[in-house]
Amino acid sequence: MADERQDLKPATRMVHAGTTRSAFGETSEAMFLTQGFVYDSAEAAEARFKGDDPGFVYSRYANPTVEMFEQRMCALEGAEAARATASGMAAVAASILCQVSAGDHVIAARALFGSCRWIVEQLLPRYGVETTLVDGTDPKAWERAVKPNTKLFFFESPTNPTLEIVDIAHVVAVARACGAKTVIDNVFATPLLQNPMVLGVDIVVYSTTKHIDGQGRCLGGVVLGPQDWVDEHLHDFFRHTGPSMSPFNAWVMLKGLETLPLRVAQQTKSAGAVADFLADHSAISRVVYPGRPDHPQANIVPKQMSGGSTLVAFDVKGGKRSAFAFANALEIVGISNNLGDAKSLITHPATTTHKNLSDQDRAELSIGGGTMRLSVGLEDAQDLIADLDRALAAAG
Ligand SMILES: *Cc1c(COP(=O)(O)O)cnc(C)c1O
Repeated sequence: MADERQDLKPATRMVHAGTTRSAFGETSEAMFLTQGFVYDSAEAAEARFKGDDPGFVYSRYANPTVEMFEQRMCALEGAEAARATASGMAAVAASILCQVSAGDHVIAARALFGSCRWIVEQLLPRYGVETTLVDGTDPKAWERAVKPNTKLFFFESPTNPTLEIVDIAHVVAVARACGAKTVIDNVFATPLLQNPMVLGVDIVVYSTTKHIDGQGRCLGGVVLGPQDWVDEHLHDFFRHTGPSMSPFNAWVMLKGLETLPLRVAQQTKSAGAVADFLADHSAISRVVYPGRPDHPQANIVPKQMSGGSTLVAFDVKGGKRSAFAFANALEIVGISNNLGDAKSLITHPATTTHKNLSDQDRAELSIGGGTMRLSVGLEDAQDLIADLDRALAAAG
């Protein structure tokens, strides 16, 4: 059956993997909008709860539509097990909290999505977990931060918003040397452009709100890891804290996976063209795109990514004033903090997603007044370039 064959290529697996059909034999994945399940007898309920009979019990634990999505994500990631969550942040929080205890130490790259940074800097210390933030692009910084109680390494690559690259194999080596686990937030790379488990990362998390939905509809997240890690750490935490994904959202995400390879390929191609256009423009002082040879970590990119990303970061000359005038003059590209959407979206991180950081923290991440993050959508690349060109001219 095509839903189980592991020799098939990702595009094929994203259409078929994990499908389970009901007695009606429906073509499209069924949406099981149910909280619970009924049993044929009291004995059957008893057997289900004992684990003697493998069926479903309650949708906080598992649901047929959600499980189809989890299975399809496992096929894409090459993971043994997955749990889908209500949002990307629920996935990040669960992946960290389920495995640390008071007295443990966590090392994280300082270039993190804002809410991820809050978990590391604000939440974990409240529960007695020590944390250290490092410059993820400095290989030595990871080694220097290790302590006898280091339990976990957490990072993104490419990072939000300035697309810094962390050397994944290096971080894995440092973590393994001290017996710690690695968790990567792989949203910016997407499962198609970067496969962290092949590089030795233990746990991969996504906000499926981004490219996996890909059309700006539903929130969602997923945690992927080895079966024994899920059994030992995530299983009970997930069941008893209840961050579960809704079956409706899982159905939307399943449909998103069917077109993910096509969308990511097209959006990456367009992002490369947009990055090249911006790099040559006199109103732009800096372009950061992992597919370009002038990226600060261009030597690491080919070791871990098969494409540049669907996002481009750049600085408009003239700081915040010019950046705002430019954003306001765009007609096709929308001003929004979301990303990975079919619609191209632009963000001014300093005043939105990264407004809570201190001036010094922003400077460390090279987020200036003119810095913009562009998520390239599915519009025609030439239309996008014309829109950007016209808006840059209008901003003067
Ligand atoms: C959006 C995002 C998150 C949070 O995901 P939500 O679905 O909004 O909760 C976490 N990490 C990264 C890198 C993101 O882009």
